[in-house]
Amino acid sequence: MATKACLPEFGRQAPRSIGRSLLLTLPILLWSLLMFANPQAHPSRQQLIAGAITGAFMVAMFFMMMRTGNTYRWRRWFFVTLGVLFPVGFLSNVLTMRGTMGIPVEEMIAGRTPFCFMPIPLLILPAALTRTVVFPGSILPHGGMSGSGIAAMTGIWLAMTLVLGRGWCSYACFFGGIEEGVAAVPRRARIRKIDPRWRYGPWAVLLAMVLLSLALFEPAYCMWLCPFKAVSEYVAARSTIGLVQNGIFVVLFAGLVIALPLLTKKRTQCAFFCPFGAFQSIFNKASIFDVRIDKSRCKPCVLCQTACPNLSISKESIARGETLLSCMKCGACVDACPRSAVVWHIKGTEVALKPERARLMFLYGAWVMAVMFGGSIIAQGVTVILHFLA
Ligand code: SF4
Ligand code: SF4
Repeated sequence: MATKACLPEFGRQAPRSIGRSLLLTLPILLWSLLMFANPQAHPSRQQLIAGAITGAFMVAMFFMMMRTGNTYRWRRWFFVTLGVLFPVGFLSNVLTMRGTMGIPVEEMIAGRTPFCFMPIPLLILPAALTRTVVFPGSILPHGGMSGSGIAAMTGIWLAMTLVLGRGWCSYACFFGGIEEGVAAVPRRARIRKIDPRWRYGPWAVLLAMVLLSLALFEPAYCMWLCPFKAVSEYVAARSTIGLVQNGIFVVLFAGLVIALPLLTKKRTQCAFFCPFGAFQSIFNKASIFDVRIDKSRCKPCVLCQTACPNLSISKESIARGETLLSCMKCGACVDACPRSAVVWHIKGTEVALKPERARLMFLYGAWVMAVMFGGSIIAQGVTVILHFLA
């Protein structure tokens, strides 16, 4: 007779009871209360309501992950919400303080450009060789648009990266949810065959951008290729060069974040292009969590490969019992496998020994950070909407 937590044949996590799911959710509830109870010394009514809505939402999504045993579906609700609400909060701030989405050169020279995690890999070589941060923002926390500063953002990124590895791209990136949401719209992919060589795209862009940033002494990706400039801030178009840069941002956004995800149901910007994603993959080596395939259960139906939004499983990797280095730990393959052969795993332990325990440990780490980082961004977006409605 199987235990309540396991289906008999494959050991898959069955729905838990409400009581047990609530118990497992309790630490996240307490953490959310801590995060959202008092966002500022004198919060406005809208901020208080936004904090309550966001806290409840984050707790509800975690509860559903515990109750159903399904990770991807509920994580996606959080991640798409983050992707949609980030531009709402960010652009509202930009427009209030600056009056335009364009960054004037004077703002750059004054070091008032808001920092984002994307340029981190581009700053390393110039900083190592010349002790210069080639980004026009403040190193330390600063009022106004530069917000928490380069040092704080880099610190947050490092802490999250050591736990999540490339899981950053599924639980923290405030851009990836846009294309994940778009990819969820069609029922079926129109383009199903994708040349696996596209997997090398992000590495090629990373190499080119690192070298170019060193040569030009500026974060070349942010200046020329970031598709998300189209929904955040762009170079003030006061010259032909500015117009060309903004044209590139819009074309890349339309192609990689809208059109291709609609056609392929994949996160094409992440899978084919994003240099930060490639850089982040390296840290999968440092994270203690990974997703593995229990070869003794697998009958190679490749449903996991089809489900992966990032081309992070191949037939060869299935045969080896592994996901690829680029795995974002989104959980789509785990949830898709009909034989529960794809499992969460803690490195150094036997594969599939206690996969649910590994999943729980990973999700606690990921969700604590998601509440703190993504949750605060969601709350900011909700606050803007509430102000607008008031
Ligand atoms: S979905 Fe499961 S059974 Fe099918 S190939 Fe992937 S791991 Fe094997
Ligand atoms: S291999 Fe699995 S967990 Fe990793 S990105 Fe693909 S679907 Fe997500």
